[in-house]
Amino acid sequence: EARRQQRDYFCFSAQMLDRIAHRERMQKELMDAISKNEIELAYQPIWDNRLGRVAKLEALARWTHREWGVISPVEFIPLAEQSGLIQAMGEKLLARACQDLKQLQAMGYDWLQISINRSTLEFNTLNPDGRDWLDVLHQHELAPSSFIFEITESIFMEGHEDHLQRIRALRSAGCLIAIDDFGTGFSALNYLRLYPMDLVKIDRSFVQQIPGHTQDRLLLKGLIDIVHNLGMQLVVEGIEREEQQAFICSQGCAYTQGFLFSKPLAWADLMSYLRHHHPV
Ligand code: C2E
Ligand code: CA
Ligand code: CA
Ligand code: CA
Repeated sequence: EARRQQRDYFCFSAQMLDRIAHRERMQKELMDAISKNEIELAYQPIWDNRLGRVAKLEALARWTHREWGVISPVEFIPLAEQSGLIQAMGEKLLARACQDLKQLQAMGYDWLQISINRSTLEFNTLNPDGRDWLDVLHQHELAPSSFIFEITESIFMEGHEDHLQRIRALRSAGCLIAIDDFGTGFSALNYLRLYPMDLVKIDRSFVQQIPGHTQDRLLLKGLIDIVHNLGMQLVVEGIEREEQQAFICSQGCAYTQGFLFSKPLAWADLMSYLRHHHPV
């Protein structure tokens, strides 16, 4: 019995070592990919239903590894956070988004805003005056009002005192702040009262069963009202079917995003998408 236990233990730790080795390799590969600018951005259109045009583009990170193929940001963003690479990656992606926006503006798409995801760790380690991000925008001579920073409510749970200052600094420079995945945390309604924000992105779990599910329908209706009454813009995410879009529009929601319109697009595909919908 003792010997068997010993062997089990040996197998277990060998497996763990394997996993640790894999993690270490992945971390090294990620560091490499960041320094070689191999992490790219895909852009998902966000439609303005009132004006009937694309209003914003959400920038979503993509990593294609020569051996492992496409790795989801759900996997590599946490890895980047745990290994202290997130800030370097985030700054490079912000610079990349700036170059892309410059190019879009030069092509005539000068009304588009770019919406950029920032993880809690990135936000909480930003200088309280927002300098590191604002400097990148200024270097590219872009108006801060073309940028939306998407943060999640988890930034409010860590007891940091500086986030109000950061939000104020970014907003007074002209940037917009969006609260992402709204409704999936715990203190949602409370921090809408406490923190000045421009935009609320309602998580797709709220629309999955729309319009069939009565309770979800009422909840969504209520959320849309609350956000609009507080004077904020609202984006509903994860629209996949016509009837979801129809319901959202009937409730007066201006902005929608989801596979019904488009998946996140690589640059060349974004170009054809924009040319098709908005010849300029
Ligand atoms: P998110 O910010 O909530 O982004 C929306 C996710 O939903 C994206 O997944 C997008 O591809 C997906 N999506 C969009 N429309 C639909 C739809 O109609 N149906 C369904 N089922 N899904 C839809 P993605 O690109 O895999 O990104 C996952 C998460 O990774 C993001 O969630 C965001 O939290 C994080 N992320 C992505 N890029 C970055 C980045 O550059 N920096 C940071 N810090 N986080 C990022
Ligand atoms: Ca987002
Ligand atoms: Ca989201
Ligand atoms: Ca998310």
